[in-house]
Amino acid sequence: MKYALLDRGDRLSIELAETFHALAADRGLVREETSPELVVTIGGDGTMLQAFHRFRDRVKDVAFVGVHTGHLGFYADWKKDELPELVERIASMKEPYLARYPLIEINIALGNSAEQYLALNEFTLKSVDGTLVAAIHINDEPFEMFRGDGIVISTPPGSTGYNKSLGGAIIHPSFEGIQIAEIASINNRVYRTLGSSMILPKHHHCDIAPDPDELLHVAIDHLVLQMKGVRSILCRVAQEKVAFARYRPYPFWNRVREAFIGSPPDKR
Ligand code: NAP
Repeated sequence: MKYALLDRGDRLSIELAETFHALAADRGLVREETSPELVVTIGGDGTMLQAFHRFRDRVKDVAFVGVHTGHLGFYADWKKDELPELVERIASMKEPYLARYPLIEINIALGNSAEQYLALNEFTLKSVDGTLVAAIHINDEPFEMFRGDGIVISTPPGSTGYNKSLGGAIIHPSFEGIQIAEIASINNRVYRTLGSSMILPKHHHCDIAPDPDELLHVAIDHLVLQMKGVRSILCRVAQEKVAFARYRPYPFWNRVREAFIGSPPDKR
């Protein structure tokens, strides 16, 4: 088993990474930073986002597993004191269960060229100078004229991130779709939006057409870019999926409860 490891860069994560390498060497795992089969992250869900983008071009060939240095996360589901158990399971389980989660493909048309991105959590569009104005089309039909702070289009696994803060629904990652959520839309007779988030299935797509003269703030997960001259942005469920190696069961709804509610209530 060839593995790569990415840590968050803080002292605890670096120390845990060293411990992991030592345990892994004892169990015959091979460190391979460019073409691994398994990518291990130590830090938090943000560290997993970084790892996903580092190995984006190999997303079909790698699986990810995350260790959280704080409380359990959505992508980082092993705790810091469980490293020996994790290494043991990696070494002994040759074919762990792979949970495959959907991603978003984002195609940005800029002048005569186009750029394509993949997001694990979400795509965020804002205006650098203030209010964003953009026409939204769904399946090539005009849907609404947006005016407000921005638009967030998330994956089901990303639905617990920025999307949730915007009042969007949490979607189980086995569902293949994308969710469009508004950030503070302004509604009047000219600019009218739905006001609630929308979930599109895999065979649907949406296009966002901003003013090409507007300087845009574009975020793909944690990666932030500024762009001008954008004619349109197409978002849909990507063909590729990301695989998370599960060496033990940890149901998604248990993660949601642990993250947002706490321990299960006493039985009545
Ligand atoms: P950050 O601002 O340092 O941290 C954002 C927080 O979101 C961290 O606590 C992170 O967990 C958590 N997170 C990341 N992915 C998540 C997911 N799928 N479900 C639940 N929580 C998640 O930024 P970052 O670490 O680079 O992460 C970028 C992400 O931040 C974006 O993809 C977006 O989802 C989120 N974000 C949220 C808001 C908001 O809620 N208002 C605004 C902007 C961005 P860890 O502590 O485990 O790393």
